[in-house]
Amino acid sequence: MPPAPTPSWTVGDLTVHRIDEVPLPPATGRWLLPGATPEVVAGQDWLRPHFADADGVPRLHSHSFAFVLDGLRVLVDTGIGNGKQRADPAWHDLRTDYPRRLTAAGFPPDAVDLVVLTHLHADHVGWNTREADGAWVPTFPRARYVTARAEREFWAGYAMEEARRQMFRDSVLPVERAGLLDLVDVPAEGLRLLPGLRLLPTPGHTPGHVAVELTSRGRTALITGDCVHHPVQLAHPAIGACVDIDPRRSETTRRELLASLAGTDTLLLGTHFAPPTAGHVLAHGDGYRLRPVPPV
Ligand SMILES: [Zn+2]
Repeated sequence: MPPAPTPSWTVGDLTVHRIDEVPLPPATGRWLLPGATPEVVAGQDWLRPHFADADGVPRLHSHSFAFVLDGLRVLVDTGIGNGKQRADPAWHDLRTDYPRRLTAAGFPPDAVDLVVLTHLHADHVGWNTREADGAWVPTFPRARYVTARAEREFWAGYAMEEARRQMFRDSVLPVERAGLLDLVDVPAEGLRLLPGLRLLPTPGHTPGHVAVELTSRGRTALITGDCVHHPVQLAHPAIGACVDIDPRRSETTRRELLASLAGTDTLLLGTHFAPPTAGHVLAHGDGYRLRPVPPV
């Protein structure tokens, strides 16, 4: 069966496609956001049905965003990947047709020019590589892969447990050894990588985490990466992810970001938001909410 049409949003002249990998199971929502209890979720009517299930468990998805900018085919984050041996059953040994969906959306892997990695976690770097003859090789052989220097250097100095070493071995080092990984310095005001594409430092979840801002013809969109995992964090910015490296910094980043977005027409594109995935940030009670913007 041919894949369903790719969900996409228009940002000025840009078309931003969501390339689906897989919905994550309820166990992932419960584990990742321990503060998002069913009671907390129930306090925010607007989260259901899209962003939480009938039991009040936050829904999370894995996907990438892809767009053509300045003549380049750009991909932001690369999901979990196929065939990766992982301790978490939700991420272990997937067999999705993600490459086919990329191709159907106009992004065949060998035509991708730029891969932006918001940070170096297993569910953001997985499709950096694919298995070929028992080895992990770059999935996007013509692309430059870009991440923040602070991010790469942090992990280089981190006492990684074996599972994380494994992830680096199968999904980061092959790209680095192929000479395809570019480390960029991201100053506090952000880094303009291309006309209309800026990397914004959004540290806390990881030290070198970046969000991706897109602008075209006066319109703006922001791809969250993992500085916001789920819309419940708009209502409760203090809710962090259990894997945040620096929870306090993560919260500060979220509060600053949400304050800057509230009431604007910036389209927030959530890297783990369940469909409809995107929306505008509105002030709501003591915090914020998302007004969803469905894909076209
Ligand atoms: Zn993630």
